[in-house]
Amino acid sequence: MTKICPLFSSSRGNSIYVGSEKSGILVDVGRSAKQIEKGLVENGISVKSIKAIFITHEHSDHIQGVRIFASRYNIKVYSSKGTIQALDEKGILDGGFSFEVIDEAGAEISNMYIKPFKTPHDSSESVGYMISTQEGKKAVIATDIGYMSDDIKKAIVGAHAVVIESNHDVRMLQNGGYPYYLKRRILSNIGHLSNEACADVLPFFVETGSTKFILAHLSQENNIPELAYETAICNLKSHKMVNNVDFQLHIAPAENYGSLCLTI
Ligand SMILES: [Zn+2]
Ligand SMILES: [Zn+2]
Repeated sequence: MTKICPLFSSSRGNSIYVGSEKSGILVDVGRSAKQIEKGLVENGISVKSIKAIFITHEHSDHIQGVRIFASRYNIKVYSSKGTIQALDEKGILDGGFSFEVIDEAGAEISNMYIKPFKTPHDSSESVGYMISTQEGKKAVIATDIGYMSDDIKKAIVGAHAVVIESNHDVRMLQNGGYPYYLKRRILSNIGHLSNEACADVLPFFVETGSTKFILAHLSQENNIPELAYETAICNLKSHKMVNNVDFQLHIAPAENYGSLCLTI
């Protein structure tokens, strides 16, 4: 069995554990090393079980604690070529731990096969990750995506667990206090996926065999968990798909201290 535990998920920091009771990986380390350690403990995961770190992109809400965490526990860091270069330029890779570029060939760690896929986002070379387990299960992590590209769709199809961005409510963002340039950036096709755009595509993923969804990377300024949930449920219902029968829908808490771990 493989657990998927979003330890932190919001514009203020992201980190997701994927693995068994004994060994696994972290996707992103977007909080301080101390907070990540606490998040792991609260979710019953030993720090020793982390065998590798996979970074999606170099924005601070995904890398804040990576240098200290990777160097404290001597954990290898993987990411795309562009992101590794960006991390290097920021001086994040000089902590004495090893790092490696991951491409379409993927990597095998902790009896899992991890493969990146391209995501449209305003960073050097952002990626999402597709994780296949020994038992033939598949989990996909796709956040920080300006729109639902064909690459992402292809990666998600048939996944048993999908962590997908539901960043903002478009009206909340438009009427909120963010400066104009930031609103434009978030709404652009290299920004973040809205509740509406996320809800739009969910029926397709249910139709193609996915059942477990975690809505993730919710904005704390331009979203409300209930609104993200209702927007998604509403569209699934309109496609005659029944909650807890045809699909399971969860919201990743901004800080998860043991309330949500999916298993596949
Ligand atoms: Zn980002
Ligand atoms: Zn982010």
